[in-house]
Amino acid sequence: MYIYADNAATTKMSKSAVETVLNIMKDVYGNPSSLHSMGQKAKEILEKARKDVADCIGAEFKEVYFTSGGTESDNQAIISAAEIGLLNKKKHIISTKIEHHAVLHTLKKLEKKGFEVTLLDVPEDGIIRVEDFVDAIREDTAFATIMFANNEIGTIQPIGEIGRICREKEIIFHTDAVQAAGHVEIDVKKLNIDMLSLSSHKFHGPKGVGALYVRKNLPLTNIIEGGAQERGKRAGTENLPGIAGMAETLKEACSHLEENARKETALRDRLIVGLSEISHSMLNGDWKNRLPGNVNYIFEGIEGESLLLLLDSRGISASSGSACTSGSLEPSHVLLAIGRPHEVAHGSLRLTISSENTMEEMDYIVEQTKEVVEYLRSISPMWEQITKQKETNNE
Ligand SMILES: *Cc1c(COP(=O)(O)O)cnc(C)c1O
Repeated sequence: MYIYADNAATTKMSKSAVETVLNIMKDVYGNPSSLHSMGQKAKEILEKARKDVADCIGAEFKEVYFTSGGTESDNQAIISAAEIGLLNKKKHIISTKIEHHAVLHTLKKLEKKGFEVTLLDVPEDGIIRVEDFVDAIREDTAFATIMFANNEIGTIQPIGEIGRICREKEIIFHTDAVQAAGHVEIDVKKLNIDMLSLSSHKFHGPKGVGALYVRKNLPLTNIIEGGAQERGKRAGTENLPGIAGMAETLKEACSHLEENARKETALRDRLIVGLSEISHSMLNGDWKNRLPGNVNYIFEGIEGESLLLLLDSRGISASSGSACTSGSLEPSHVLLAIGRPHEVAHGSLRLTISSENTMEEMDYIVEQTKEVVEYLRSISPMWEQITKQKETNNE
């Protein structure tokens, strides 16, 4: 049996996305900027893709810009919001401790240029408190960047409330919705979102392509200079096969949103209930307010990396919950932010599933995880210490 359970890292492309990409590569190879008929055909596909993406998030067609993915969208949104801040003599930014590095590292760069950044604390349930957000607001707050859903623990933030407050206080609001788009309902108008990042490969589209929604009349700053593509805001010949493949998959995901979420939630909950039978284990992040496909568990006394490798040898692809820094021994900044101690944070496992997974697969994962955790604990000095300590406490 082989089970892919690492969909937060990337997804398998859908059949329709593969087909769309191949067809365009074969048949529509024109440059959308060319005036001849092959170019115009490409242009038509490009603009149809823009409309499909816009429709899925409740945006207008002209508010969608294509980029190379979530990272670029995050960078451009944040740099643009900072530029607007400078014009208005505002230099304060609000974000959270659990953002993706595409956001955190861009904010670090702005800090070096004189911006002041407040990173909100995140309670154990993985959800920021709206009161904390309100408390952080200053006269000179230029913008807020708060992720829609977390990539490690799957928790969904109170985006609607944050959006309402930002609109009221004239604070630009960007959200990294890379994990949310195509998985949960998003309406940028209802939620008062000014800028939103999404990435194709997180919802079964091709890699290296994404989009940035920017509310009309908000000026974007270029981070890539050159030709006049994307209304002059993102230079470079468009990745048309990627863009069309992304739009096709997003359209499909959006039309099956509830159905997929229902399936994934049932699979997810089966996993959570199964894993909860393992002693000294704990779910990271709130159970209810989380992405339908995300499970993140901590098993005390073991190393997440060893668990990951042993599961891999049994045909299960998962993540140790710190995918972006894998290779380094730093525990995940997200798990540390929600208060997991260093040594415990190392024992985390992230399983992210798609609606194509089955209940049998969930049972197999639970069974294998139980065995592997038991084995790792049997050879773990850390586990020996933990059990000794508990015995002493019970005496
Ligand atoms: C994957 C991810 C990104 C980066 O997107 P890429 O398209 O891989 O550059 C940014 N933010 C979050 C929350 C992600 O999960």
